[in-house]
Amino acid sequence: MAGLHAETSLPSRAATFPSDRKNLPYFADLHMPSHFSPPDLTAARLQMVEMQIEARGICNAALLEVMRQIPRERFVNADPPIEAYTDRALPIEACQTISQPYIVALMTESLALLPEHTILEIGTGSGYQTAILARLARFVHTVERIESLTQTAAQRIAELNLQNVAFHVADGSLGWPAAAPYDRIIVTAGAPRVPAALIDQLADGGRLIAPVGGEEHQTLVVIEKTGQNITESAIAGCRFVKLIGAEGWSPV
Ligand code: SAM
Repeated sequence: MAGLHAETSLPSRAATFPSDRKNLPYFADLHMPSHFSPPDLTAARLQMVEMQIEARGICNAALLEVMRQIPRERFVNADPPIEAYTDRALPIEACQTISQPYIVALMTESLALLPEHTILEIGTGSGYQTAILARLARFVHTVERIESLTQTAAQRIAELNLQNVAFHVADGSLGWPAAAPYDRIIVTAGAPRVPAALIDQLADGGRLIAPVGGEEHQTLVVIEKTGQNITESAIAGCRFVKLIGAEGWSPV
């Protein structure tokens, strides 16, 4: 992955969070029409979920089902398209990356989503993670600093007929205060520390996940907020592109 600034493969996770089959997702019973993906790509997607995600211990049934359905090849211009299902992050437009499928799954499961949740996502990128969140929760606000990425992601999300996403072009290190508080916040770019603005915009009882650390390597941390009490736990090592902004890294 030299030069790609992509997330690294992780053999297993260091912590798990409960998944509950009773908390059925809002949209998980809506199946993607079969014409969205040709048979070979559908087979590759099922294999990705089994070999890369379930095999590493992700067990949230709703999440696994959504990942079996979202056509990842539509979010990355891989050539051939089946490359979209390889076990690593891939380059997308504007020198950014689409995260490794396992990292998407790990971060999503760690959020312990409920169907009624409103989510703030920082780093729209390709829109793949956004689509998964939109299938599992009530509403997603997603913030991206590069306008062209937002436009492409919004088009892809519309093609999948997902209507519960608001796209914002802004410095997401400052969150999106207009719609706060959020039940869950996910940051998909590496920051030197968890931005204070994001903790402020997290609801009481809320949970946030972010890659935090140096420019080259970070740790995925989960923050839980209960009243004035903030707890932080580390779940895995990772490598993300930089969160660039007022509460992130400076642009070079
Ligand atoms: N979750 C995305 C996906 O599924 O394709 C991958 C996100 S990519 C690893 C990180 C994204 O964060 C990039 O698109 C980058 O432009 C964006 N980003 C970096 N700094 C940001 C900021 N301050 N506000 C919003 N987005 C930012």
